[in-house]
Amino acid sequence: MSDEQTVNPSRRHFVGSAVAVAGITIAPGVFLTRVAHAESASQAATEKNRWGMLIDSSKCATGCNDCVTACNKENGISGFNREKTDAQWIRKVTLKDKTTGYVQSLPLLCQHCKNPPCVDVCPTGASMKRADGIVLVDKHICIGCRYCMMACPFKARSFIHEVLEEQKAIAPRGKGTVESCTLCVHRVDANRAEVDPAKHKDPACVEACTTKEHRAMWFGDLNDENSEIRKQLKAHGGQQIRADLKLDTGVRYQGIN
Ligand code: SF4
Ligand code: SF4
Ligand code: SF4
Repeated sequence: MSDEQTVNPSRRHFVGSAVAVAGITIAPGVFLTRVAHAESASQAATEKNRWGMLIDSSKCATGCNDCVTACNKENGISGFNREKTDAQWIRKVTLKDKTTGYVQSLPLLCQHCKNPPCVDVCPTGASMKRADGIVLVDKHICIGCRYCMMACPFKARSFIHEVLEEQKAIAPRGKGTVESCTLCVHRVDANRAEVDPAKHKDPACVEACTTKEHRAMWFGDLNDENSEIRKQLKAHGGQQIRADLKLDTGVRYQGIN
């Protein structure tokens, strides 16, 4: 894995002694609804489902950024990289076998851990896991202490440093808060209200990957034996990144060595 993207297991051991409280500034005209989909849906979401993702790195091309672009567009993220202030909820990483030189490319996002250290360390309850396994941040409760960023071994979370304009109602964002992939929870919850399965939508990144015919990403219910993701996992297997941490990630990978 390249240096700047290396997953750091030691981060999850971070427990600070002082909470640095950052003010929360909301862009003019933007009301951070209590991640409306999250609150209403968390009441409706049940343990019957466990939403997850399967990513086949052998089908993910080096240089392809379609999933990242789709996520940015869906969630109103500017697309600047970490050095330029805006967030990345999904990013491409490159893995290189130092012995053989074999290079792999794959997207890395919040792994929606069943045992999420980000939730464990959050002093306010802002980091939360829904019954259906989706891990979210309640922007109204987040005080920007960034403990969760330190605790996440996948560097999946970002801190908002600037006042943001042109936010989307489905993904409210605010200066002084932390955010990460929501597994497109607004789409998941819309699916629940849609009776026609043919009209159910995948997360934006998965949709883009499929539309462009890369077919490296699947989304679905890990609890449902009849779901495509379960069938793929049963037929071809799949592994968790840093399975040794026993986080039981909801995002699984195929094709990684
Ligand atoms: Fe939390 Fe996501 Fe990081 Fe897991 S991958 S620790 S759920 S932010
Ligand atoms: Fe702190 Fe993260 Fe919880 Fe916000 S979500 S209060 S930054 S630990
Ligand atoms: Fe972005 Fe949605 Fe994909 Fe998460 S599931 S990385 S929020 S497009």
